[in-house]
Amino acid sequence: MDLPDLSAFDAARLLNEGQCSSVELTRACLERIERVEPRVRAFVTVLADQALDSARQADQARAQGKIASPLMGVPVAVKDNMCMRDAPTTCSSKILENFIPPYDATVVQRLTAAGMVVVGKTNLDEFAMGSSTENSGLFTTHNPWDLERAPGGSSGGSTAAVAAGEALLALGSDTGGSIRQPASLCGLVGLKPTYGRVSRYGLVAFASSLDQIGPITRTARDAALLMNVIGGHDPLDSTSWPEPAPNYCEGLDRGVRGLRIGVPKEYFIEGIDPEVEAAVRQAIEQFAALGAEAAEVSLPTMPYAIPTYYICATAEASSNLARYDGAHYGLRVEGADNIIDMFSRTRAQGFGAEVKRRIMLGTYALSAGFYDAYYMKGLKARTLFKRDFERAFEKCDVILGPTTPTPAFQLGEKVDDPIQMYLCDIFTTPANLAGNPALSIPCGFSAAGLPIGLQLIAPLFDEARLLQTAHAFEQATDYHKARANLAAD
Ligand code: GLN
Repeated sequence: MDLPDLSAFDAARLLNEGQCSSVELTRACLERIERVEPRVRAFVTVLADQALDSARQADQARAQGKIASPLMGVPVAVKDNMCMRDAPTTCSSKILENFIPPYDATVVQRLTAAGMVVVGKTNLDEFAMGSSTENSGLFTTHNPWDLERAPGGSSGGSTAAVAAGEALLALGSDTGGSIRQPASLCGLVGLKPTYGRVSRYGLVAFASSLDQIGPITRTARDAALLMNVIGGHDPLDSTSWPEPAPNYCEGLDRGVRGLRIGVPKEYFIEGIDPEVEAAVRQAIEQFAALGAEAAEVSLPTMPYAIPTYYICATAEASSNLARYDGAHYGLRVEGADNIIDMFSRTRAQGFGAEVKRRIMLGTYALSAGFYDAYYMKGLKARTLFKRDFERAFEKCDVILGPTTPTPAFQLGEKVDDPIQMYLCDIFTTPANLAGNPALSIPCGFSAAGLPIGLQLIAPLFDEARLLQTAHAFEQATDYHKARANLAAD
């Protein structure tokens, strides 16, 4: 296997054994970027010089015996809605195209402190609103498994980068599925931690009560390693959970003997692709063979997930996006007659169609006279999702189901039908609404060779259980070892 295709864990072992340097590993990723990026288009900004500088520093530190973390010297990609000092943070929006933040997001600061090498900032649906990267205000990213297909979204740049070997792992953000859905479509592991587990300081807000940052990796162990870097309390984020995060690598080998796996009947709805259903059912058998017990559970509120999510998320978005007014930062359209005219020209030119749609929906849901009927109702429905999970976890230890209804779809297939695009998140939004941690892992391939993902959901703050369960599955299967075959082209 070429260096850029290794798991982060295996690459770190080569670094520790002196079999390669961080500079070599980083160069290999930068060369891969040069080779495949014209076809994949995962990156908004490639930070080649900075990456090589960090790699040199990591090599020097290692030579002096100073090991900042087990991932020191490993190349990582960061979704372009997380601030990084002295590099553009665009959110893939015209309104922030030239914005350079004066500070690092906490997660970026932690990657740096861990000695990791940030190779670039990845493309997303504008302000993380979408499921395919086709809503990016800059360009569309292609799925490395089939370049005609979407990588998923909104963290599609991050998942495409890892699937194409342009970085060994990446950070994404997940408001309604944006880590898990693209991870599923690109054959990767994607973890949305519990709300509050990872600091949101420096993450450009979409829907603040739902947004969470998390790892996108090739294996569960890599996700555990990256969680050890980014997880834990941060005084700069008032919603950050005060307790320290555990060591996620401990107990990874615990296995699943006796684990009760809850399979909600609502997760096998009409319209789910038969190949996806078959792969997920086969995974349930695989878990049974490993000693887990299947339990039927119910999430009765599930059919209301999409409407609840799209009320709550758009309401918060309309409020969060009010700050892009041409006065504070980002784009300002000149030539206006007065300040109101300047605001509206700036926002009309700066935002794309989907972002405008959400601002309008959200403003409507929050407006006097409709607030109680929509936003308040949405908040109350969230309590029902929490209760659904609490009841289900009385009968099981983890919940299992598909991550997405279908494998990767064709680019262009859903762009003109926002409802179809919203339905990509039918299985992922409940965990955001309730706050629970959830993870997607590869569990098969369609006849056309496209990856299929399996979703696991755990009780609040039990990311460790998800990682252990996923790791046990990987020990018994080979799906996570497959790589998109782009490098050879
Ligand atoms: N696809 C969903 C949306 O469009 C979720 C996005 C996300 O998780 N950031 O809102």
